Order: sequence, then structure tokens, then C-alpha cells
Amino acid sequence: MGERHGRDASAGANGPWRLVGTLLPADEPVELWVVDGVFVPGPVAGATTICDGGWIMPGFVDAHSHIGLGRGGAVDMGTAREQAVTDRDGGALLIRDAGSPIDTHEFDRDPELPRIVRAGRHIARPRRYIAGYAAEIEPGELVDEVERQARAGDGWVKIVGDWIDRSIGDLAPLWDSEEAAAAIARAHRLGARVTAHCFAEESVVQLVDAGIDGIEHGTGMSGAVIDTMAARRVALVPTMINLATFGRIADAGQAKYPVYAAHMRALGARYRQVLASAYEAGVPIYAGTDAGGTIEHGRISDEISALSTIGGAEFALGAASWRARSWLGRSGIQYGASADLVVLGADPRGDVSICASPELIVLRGVPHRHRAGVHDPEPVG
Ligand SMILES: [Zn+2]
Repeated sequence: MGERHGRDASAGANGPWRLVGTLLPADEPVELWVVDGVFVPGPVAGATTICDGGWIMPGFVDAHSHIGLGRGGAVDMGTAREQAVTDRDGGALLIRDAGSPIDTHEFDRDPELPRIVRAGRHIARPRRYIAGYAAEIEPGELVDEVERQARAGDGWVKIVGDWIDRSIGDLAPLWDSEEAAAAIARAHRLGARVTAHCFAEESVVQLVDAGIDGIEHGTGMSGAVIDTMAARRVALVPTMINLATFGRIADAGQAKYPVYAAHMRALGARYRQVLASAYEAGVPIYAGTDAGGTIEHGRISDEISALSTIGGAEFALGAASWRARSWLGRSGIQYGASADLVVLGADPRGDVSICASPELIVLRGVPHRHRAGVHDPEPVG
């Protein structure tokens, strides 16, 4: 996957660069100049034109990925780096890491890699999440563990809100409401936001009541909880390409846990309707793939396509770019901001499938070609 984009051999890594195209979401013609990795006012003498037409968007955001997580849990740093490169090559230049068993902060100094906003490790209980993924704690320890992960991350904490409880054979919340509320309050005092993995109905009600900032998956949201989330601006990252696997999860659990399997099937059968209700109610929805573990990295374009079936192309593009950047407190295309953008050869508002093959990706001012030789840089100015 890392071979798909060749670094421009014909140009220096640092520009200066000139890009011409149609800027989204503004939908206006634009001439951009990049010096030393950031957007600057132009014209800039000696700049090389690396884009001469196309649709220019702030780099894609994968708001739910896991860098450093494989099927069996933690992977080595080399594999984690490959995961990040694969995400970059799909155009995801800003990643919210929704829980990783390894510390990838050294990647922040690597100019080849997307920017990562981390949530530390997943927080779960023993036997109440996928083995090897989470910091596993007992009830009563959540507040302290949330503090630990808030300090380890970059402004987010990720808790597992529900998972199969094998003693009852069905999905069930992991935490007691008061403890969850105290843990969320602790995170807020430390300046961190909290999000939770929630498949079923009960955990999402409980955690939204407890003041949580985000819900991952959210398949069990009721109309009432959707209204509360919309009013309180609780973010939803549904990870639709992962929800599409609920039938397989149910099949795998059928023999031992038939009630759980039926529950997963029911959630899988109605998630599109649930997400459509959330969209219509105005819940802030963002694009996340859930890559790492079972979903492959580099699939943000698939999630954009899936989201477009709920709220249309412009909604899906914003969910994976400008809206998500602003939600995560990161800049878009403006003077002084890091030059992180994707260039598409056709208007993605007409057909989002073009997002699967950007003509050019620029990360930290460094061009990465999707197809080598599409535009050979020519000196201008
Ligand atoms: Zn996840």
C-alpha cells in the first residue's frame, strides 16, 4: 500500500509550491502558495506549480483509527508506522486515534506521517473487550484510569461503554453511571474530552447523561438520546464500514451466545435508519474508519462513500475534512497553517468516489503523488 504514492523525485521536498484549483468548501477559484510547509500569501518567486486545476480540500480526517493496533493487540513501531503511511496514502492527514496499546508520539516528529490526536489506551474491564487492546481495570478504578489516559493522550480519552457480558450472554454496560460521570468530570478538569464505544441502547443513554463528549458507533441510539446529543453537540463517529460487519460478528457468536447474536443482528439491521435520524436531528457526525484490529487502514474514502448515503456528498465530505478539522481544533487552508491538503481530479460533490484516488496529497508541505507523472512540476514565477 505504501508504494501507491511516490514522493516527487523531480522537486525539492520543501517547495516553494504553487497550487491552482477550486477550493472546497468555499467553491471558489484559488491560487495557493506554500513555503516551508505552510500556506503563505503569494506570489512567491521561483515557486513550482504542483497543481494546475482540480478540487482542493483540507486533508481528510479519519476520526476513528487505531495506529499501533493489530488483530492480536499491540504491533511493533515499524508496523504502526506502515499503518500511518497507509492512512496518509488514502488522504487521511489528520487522525484521531481512538485507542492504541502503544505510544506513537515519536511519529509527531516524522514529516512523512499524518498528524495524530490520541486518546491513550482504550479503557475496559477484564474479559469485557477484545483481549490485548485495553488498559483493563476493575469497577472503582475508572476515575484514576481516565486521568492516566488523559495525561497519556492528546486531549481525548476512550472508554469501552458496552461489550458482551458472557455471564448474561448479551451486550451490557461496563460502568456504573455515577462512576462514569465522575470519570468524565475528571477528564474535563484535565482539559480532555471523553468518547465511548457504544453498540447497544443502555450504555449510550447512560454515558450521554453522564456528560460524555462523543459516541463511537452509536447503533443503539434512541430518538430521545439523539435529541439530547444534538442539543448538547455530542459528537457521533459511526464508523459505518465497521457497522457493516455486524452480521459477521453475530454469526461468530451465534453458537455460544444466541441472544447476543440476535441483538447484534437487530442493531445491524437498523443502523442506517438510526444514523439517518441522527443526521436529521443535527447530531455532529464525523468520518471514522475504525482501522486497526479488523478494518484495514487507508479506507477513509470508503467511509466518505458510506456517509454520503446518509446525508449526501457535501455532508460526507465535511464530516471527513473541514468540519472534522474544526471539531478537533485543527486548521484548514489558511495563511500560516500547515499545508495539509488533497487534490481531486473531479468535483467530489458530484461523486464522492473520486476521493479514493486523489491526484495529489500534500502533507506538511510535502507533495505525495497518487499517480506518478500526472502533473510534472514546472517552475513558475
Ligand atoms: Zn475502534
